[in-house]
Amino acid sequence: MKACLLNATARIETNPLQLSEVAVPQPGKGEVLVRVHACGVCRTDLHVIEGELPPRKSPVIPGHQVVGIVEKLGDGSNRFAIGARVGVAWLHHTDGVCEYCRRGEENLCDNPSFTGYSVDGGYAEYVVAPEDFVYAIPEGFSDLQAAPLLCAGIIGFRSLRLAGIKPGGKLGFYGFGAAAHVAIQVARYWNVTVYASTRDARHQKLALELGAAWAGGTFDAPPEKLDAAIVFAPAGEIVPAALAALRKSGVLVLGGIHMSPIPSFSYDLLYQERVIRSVANNTRQDGEDFLRIAAEIPIRMHTETFPLSDANRALNALKNDAIEGAAVLRVLGDG
Ligand SMILES: [Zn+2]
Ligand SMILES: [Zn+2]
Repeated sequence: MKACLLNATARIETNPLQLSEVAVPQPGKGEVLVRVHACGVCRTDLHVIEGELPPRKSPVIPGHQVVGIVEKLGDGSNRFAIGARVGVAWLHHTDGVCEYCRRGEENLCDNPSFTGYSVDGGYAEYVVAPEDFVYAIPEGFSDLQAAPLLCAGIIGFRSLRLAGIKPGGKLGFYGFGAAAHVAIQVARYWNVTVYASTRDARHQKLALELGAAWAGGTFDAPPEKLDAAIVFAPAGEIVPAALAALRKSGVLVLGGIHMSPIPSFSYDLLYQERVIRSVANNTRQDGEDFLRIAAEIPIRMHTETFPLSDANRALNALKNDAIEGAAVLRVLGDG
């Protein structure tokens, strides 16, 4: 099969992914083989490729927002029929026995594996995954629309949950990429007022089109004090600015897996019971709940499509803020 291999971490400007011919993986016990139709491109893929996340497997096939069709079942697999349309996301497997798994926090599992990082992902024609960690994809979404829901969508949704935002509340977004693109639609559905802070003028315009009450530069103070804010951009210097925008006891959620160092700031910004918390991965329940609400709203993604052979170009565009909405690799029929 064709696959984009990362043989060694490197800056994306050097186009380190190599389109290669590799063996089709075979599904083991409890696994399914998925023929990939589309794979979303996520900022975490950039962190894997550029080595900001320590390498777990080399070479590795990145990609963790995979939509495709079940083509083959491993021993004992019976959850999906051959031909079922499914999604494979970041959380590839958890041990089910550690203290976090036992108390329903499998997103924090002590022994997890992650798609496109510690195991091969979906920048390829086929991927294998444990059937228990695979999602059924709601019918209303095309393959290309569904792919970015699997990380941008699910993590945006978990970020909203951790923000504890209530109907009628005021919520800030810092950075307006794919996750914010989805989260604003959920927030508006919940009757939450959204204020979008982002450096890119086109992203400000997109935020307003999607129902933001205000859009401004990253360091411009929103016109109202916020009940909560979510930082989607991986830039630590945003944290003090976002804290300054919160009301007393407001919650600041950091939505990324990697962030540049946070500069020191005055305790006054945190005092009055403001809270900062990160988001780590998601539980399968988050994924199931999000896909249900995504179909109910329904979420509409602006996507930019690239062939599998152009994965480097898609990631360069993502790094340069040149993607509106989400970048998606169209895999089936490529090459
Ligand atoms: Zn565990
Ligand atoms: Zn992701």
